[in-house]
Amino acid sequence: SSAINIVELQQVEKKYQGVSALNKLNLEIREGEVLGLFGHNGAGKTTTIKLILGLIGATSGQVKVFGEDPTQSEARNLRRKLGFLQENVSFYDQLTGLEVLQYFARLKGVSKKNCLSLLDQVGLSQAGKRRVKTYSKGMRQRLGLAQALLGEPKLLLLDEPTVGLDPIATQDFYRRIEQLKEQGCTVILCSHVLPGVEKYIDRALILGQGNLLAEGSINDLRHQADLPATFHLQG
Ligand code: ATP
Repeated sequence: SSAINIVELQQVEKKYQGVSALNKLNLEIREGEVLGLFGHNGAGKTTTIKLILGLIGATSGQVKVFGEDPTQSEARNLRRKLGFLQENVSFYDQLTGLEVLQYFARLKGVSKKNCLSLLDQVGLSQAGKRRVKTYSKGMRQRLGLAQALLGEPKLLLLDEPTVGLDPIATQDFYRRIEQLKEQGCTVILCSHVLPGVEKYIDRALILGQGNLLAEGSINDLRHQADLPATFHLQG
C-alpha cells in the first residue's frame, strides 16, 4: 500500500499579532518516518509543532492530523494519538519516576498499568522507585520520553529533546527513538543543529524565518550548497 500522510499542512500561514511566523508552509509526514525539522531560533519549528498539536490555529491554510483538524474540541481521540516532549522537561522532584508517570497517566486518562513497562523501555526500571530529584538530565529526559509514550501514541513530536544532554545520553536517547521507529511510530524531531542527528532521520525540512529553505533526504541536503552553515553536512 502507498504511504499514508499522518500530517498534512497546506499553505499554512501563522501570524502573531500580525507578524508572520510561518509563511505558506506545505508539509507532509508519512506513516512510519522520522522527519527532522531544522532551523535556527525563531525559524518556526515550535509554531509548527503547536499547530500539529492543535494548541494554536493557523491564520490561513489547512492543518490535518490523521485526517482531522487538531483544534476541534471533538478531536479528543486524535490527541491520544500524539505524544509530545520538549527540551529540559521539569517534573515533580519529590515524586518518584513511577509516581510521575502514574500522575501523567491519570491526566491523560490512560491506564496506569503500562507505567512499569514504559519505565523499563526507557531504561529506568530500577530508578523508577527513586525520587526525580536524584535523576541526571539524561534520566529526566528518558522519563519525559516515557511520559510522551503513555497511551501508545502513533505520532511522537520531539522539540529539541536532547538540549543539555551529554553526548552519551544524547546517543542513548536517539537509539531509543530508532527502536520506536522500528515499532512503527512516526516521529517529528525538531533541532537547531543537523550534524550528529542525520543518521536517525529519514527526511529533513529546513526552515528559515518561517520559510521552507530545503526539503529532502539527508543525501539531498548534502548537495545543497546554499544552506546556512549549521546545516552543512560533511561527505
Ligand atoms: P526556537 O528554537 O527559539 O523555539 P522556533 O524555530 O521554534 O525557535 P518559533 O518559536 O516557532 O520558532 O517562533 C517563530 C517566530 O514567531 C519567532 O519570530 C517568534 O518570536 C515568534 N513567536 C513565537 N511565538 C510567539 C507568540 N506567542 N507571540 C508572538 N510571537 C511569537
